[in-house]
Amino acid sequence: MATGKINVSVENIFPLIKKFLYSDHEIFLRELISNATDATLKLKHLANIGETSVEYGNPVIEVKIDEENSKLHIIDEGIGMTKEEVEKYINEVAFSGAEEFLEKYKDSAKDSGIIGHFGLGFYSAFMVANKVEIITKSFKDEPAAHWVCEGTTEFTLKDGNKETRGTEIILHINEDDKEFLQENRISELLTKYNKFMPVPIKFGTKEKELPKAEDAPEDEEAKKVTVDNIINNPEPAWTKQPTDLEEQDYNSFYRELYPMQFEEPLFHIHLNVDYPFNLTGILYFPKLSNDMTMQKDKIQLYQNQVFVTDNVEGIVPEFLTMLKGVIDSPDIPLNVSRSYLQADGAVKKISSYISRKVADKLKSLFNNNREDFEQKWDDIKVVIEYGMLTEDKFFDKAQKFSLYPTVDKKYFTFEEYKEKIKDNQTDKDDKLVVLYASNKDEQHSYIEAAKDKGYEVLLLDSPIVPHLIQKLESSNENVSFVRVDSDHVDNLIKKDEDKTSKLSEEEQEKLKTDFEKVVPKEKYTVQLEAMDSAAAPLIITQPEFMRRMKEMQQTGGGMMGMGNMPEMYNLVVNTNNNLISEILKTENAEEQERKIKQSLDLARLSQNLLKGEELTNFVKRSFEMIK
Ligand code: ADP
Repeated sequence: MATGKINVSVENIFPLIKKFLYSDHEIFLRELISNATDATLKLKHLANIGETSVEYGNPVIEVKIDEENSKLHIIDEGIGMTKEEVEKYINEVAFSGAEEFLEKYKDSAKDSGIIGHFGLGFYSAFMVANKVEIITKSFKDEPAAHWVCEGTTEFTLKDGNKETRGTEIILHINEDDKEFLQENRISELLTKYNKFMPVPIKFGTKEKELPKAEDAPEDEEAKKVTVDNIINNPEPAWTKQPTDLEEQDYNSFYRELYPMQFEEPLFHIHLNVDYPFNLTGILYFPKLSNDMTMQKDKIQLYQNQVFVTDNVEGIVPEFLTMLKGVIDSPDIPLNVSRSYLQADGAVKKISSYISRKVADKLKSLFNNNREDFEQKWDDIKVVIEYGMLTEDKFFDKAQKFSLYPTVDKKYFTFEEYKEKIKDNQTDKDDKLVVLYASNKDEQHSYIEAAKDKGYEVLLLDSPIVPHLIQKLESSNENVSFVRVDSDHVDNLIKKDEDKTSKLSEEEQEKLKTDFEKVVPKEKYTVQLEAMDSAAAPLIITQPEFMRRMKEMQQTGGGMMGMGNMPEMYNLVVNTNNNLISEILKTENAEEQERKIKQSLDLARLSQNLLKGEELTNFVKRSFEMIK
């Protein structure tokens, strides 16, 4: 038997390990199972290349709880270690790994978002155990070794008692970490970190019903057998070739990832690169609502099939963090802070690769089945619009597939829409006028008025539309966006024939003063327009620029410090409408005021601007008038 002193410069590394990683004790299991997996795959490799004649068979990794003796066992059937190898790999390599890790970790620990703790490896066992044993037998024909260490720099190493190939790690769990002796807790950890690891992992047993014989009587009870409970799927879909997978394989993998999710994903994107970095994965577009904040942190990051985190900020472009799925890359540095990560060259390339793949997929979906793409548009538009806003490259690519639906659910690309309106939707400066609505119900009367004239009104109702519009206007010089209720359409769009008013100059002047006497001028600018006699007598509009400023203010568009902008509207008076002529002719001032007020309230009502006490009074007054 050998005893020895671990050669280490950090005086006592164990308290450090405990202190630094206090919050993340649970990762020890992931680290030990990763080692067991590596050991198994190394043997597989040797067997494959003919370096060993041992039978590879169907090795599993077993996790076993011995609650009575406060022990947790992790047993593999991998390559194993000889005594010399334990000396070398455990006492030297593993220890220096731990030391190096702590050195790195000390600095980044100040910066909150450490994303993983790979690298600590074997010694993370001491986060939860006061004594660790390794009993291991190499695939080479040599006696087994038994290493014991009680959380100090002392260890013992002697011949072990093990006949079968592989390694058994025994953790004597600390009093404080008894949770790791509970079946539920271990099961939870295995599901979180090891669900897709490449070697089958056994945790306990379960009962399985045997299929009944064909000639068995109806009422015969099914026979049950006890089988290993394998907790993982060693061959998750993302590790396979896209050509080997059907649509339903992608859908069932989605279910595996999100067992509580009942909705099918809309479509998927299979990622697969090996140069200049290694990355595989499957991203899914789920149905998305307009609430963007609710839907983040659904993508899981793996490294060689080991779960690392579900916070992929910095790795996946921000706008795509609303998607779901998996990415797996060994090229993402893990024991570093977020800010370091975002500056990392490989990570930047990964991020732009993902963005490009998503754009390509969207384009091919659009080209291959436009009708289907149109149907999905409402569920995916937030992602696309957000992407267009935040990434110039994506914005350029999205010109080919991003859609602009009309209020009647016709879908145009921006180019198609421009083509459609080029002859009859231009303003005084010959700019194309994109007429849009943000709410079909609230802006109903304006939409109808515009449609009556044969204009195409878009329905742009996502929360980020005000920003997107700015972006579209700045990249399309001859286009201006105006919301249908921002002015009367006749004023927005240039017409060959200008309507003339049936009222004389003097009459118009008097009309204006009459209105201004009654209408609160801090709220409304009275504006006379000669419109169609059938058009409404009064229309309330809010100038496009005014409304946009307010919207930008609300959505944090950098208009801070402007204070609260006042609500200002235009009151457009249709001088050709009969009711207006009647108001003009009303000589009794009281009578005229009543008519103006009632009409104004009706106009406000149609714009959803009449509320509270004013609404109550209006309703009362209107009932009186019926009598
Ligand atoms: P890493 O896995 O990053 O190399 P570890 O500290 O986890 O670092 O382990 C150090 C070394 O110990 C491994 O590289 C491996 O050679 C050996 N080792 C650890 N666990 C096992 C195991 N279960 N079977 C065989 N060898 C192992």
